[in-house]
Amino acid sequence: MTHCLVTGGAGFIGSHLTERLLAAGHAVTVLDDLSTGRALNLAGVQDNPRLHIRTGSITDPVLIAELVHQADAIYHLAAAVGVKLVADDPVRTIETNIYPTEALLRLAAQGGKRFFLASTSEVYGKNPLERWTEEDDLHLGATSRPRWAYGCSKAIDEFLALAYHRKYQLEVVVGRFFNVVGPRQVGHYGMVIPRFVDQALAGGPVVVYDDGEQVRCFAHVREVVEMIMRLMAAPAAVGRVFNIGSDQPVSIRQLAEEIIARTDPRVVLKFLPYGEAYGADFEDVRRRVPDLARLEQTLGVKPRMPLGEILDDIIRYKRQTAAN
Ligand code: UDP
Repeated sequence: MTHCLVTGGAGFIGSHLTERLLAAGHAVTVLDDLSTGRALNLAGVQDNPRLHIRTGSITDPVLIAELVHQADAIYHLAAAVGVKLVADDPVRTIETNIYPTEALLRLAAQGGKRFFLASTSEVYGKNPLERWTEEDDLHLGATSRPRWAYGCSKAIDEFLALAYHRKYQLEVVVGRFFNVVGPRQVGHYGMVIPRFVDQALAGGPVVVYDDGEQVRCFAHVREVVEMIMRLMAAPAAVGRVFNIGSDQPVSIRQLAEEIIARTDPRVVLKFLPYGEAYGADFEDVRRRVPDLARLEQTLGVKPRMPLGEILDDIIRYKRQTAAN
C-alpha cells in the first residue's frame, strides 16, 4: 500500500484519480480548498477508511509540509483552471499555480517522494503545427492577454519540476492534459462539453463561439486517470513530459451537432463572437491535437474511447444528476 497525496483531489480529474487509487488498494489524502472542487465529487468513496480529506490550501506551508511528510507519492493537480476563470483572475492564477508547486517539489525532493505534476496543453499556446509533440516550441501570446497567464504559469511549473529532477533526482512525471472530459466536470469555468450538454438538455440554443471551426480532441477522464497510474508505475517515465489525451480531432461545430443529435435534434446552434463571450482581449487556440507517440511507446497504450461513447456517458450522467 502506497500513501498518496492528491492535491485538488475533490476536483473533476482529482476525484476520479482518488477513486482509482483507492480501488488499487492505496491510502489517499486529499488536499482541496473546495474553490472549484466539490466535496460531493468524493461522495462515492467518503466512507472508505483509507481516504482522508483535508480542506485547506496548497498555499499553507505548514499544512503541505505535514501532508507531504506522511506521503510516499504526490499527485499535484490543484490549480486555478479553466480559460474563463483564468482570464477573469490572472493574479489568482499565477499565485496558485506557481509558488505552491515549487514548495511541494522542494518538500518532495527532500523526502525522496515520487511526484506527478498535472500540466496542460495550454503550454503549447497557439503553436500552428498540426500535432504537438512534447519537444515542440511553446507559442504563448502577449502578456497583455490574460489567457496566456495560465499556460505560462504551468510552463514554469514544468521547468521547476524538470530542474528538481536534474538537480535533486526527484522522481517526477509531467502530464500535459488535453481537454479531459467526463462526469462531474462543470461548465461554470468555460468547459465546452458540460456547457453544450446543459444547453441542449435545457432546450437550447447551443452557443458556439466564433465560427466553430476551431479544433479540439476530447479524452474521457477514466482513460486519462489510467494513463497517470501507469506513468507513475513506469521507470521509463521519470523525468519526462507526456501529452495525455485523445488524438482524434473534432471541430467545435461538429461537437455541438453531435451533442444535439444525441440529446434533442430540435435544438438550434447559435454563434457568438469571442469578444462577447470572454471580453475584448481574448484570443483562442484554433487547433489543438496531441502527438501521443511518446505516451504509447512508453506505456504500450493510449486513450482510445470514441467521442460518441464519451458524449453518451456525459449525457447519461447529466440526465441522472438533473433527475435527482
Ligand atoms: N467554446 C464554445 N462554447 C462554450 C465554451 C467553449 O464554443 O460555451 C469553445 C471555445 O471557444 C474553445 C472550445 O470550445 O474553442 C473548447 O473550450 P474549453 O474552454 O472547453 O477548452 P479550451 O480548449 O479552450 O481550453
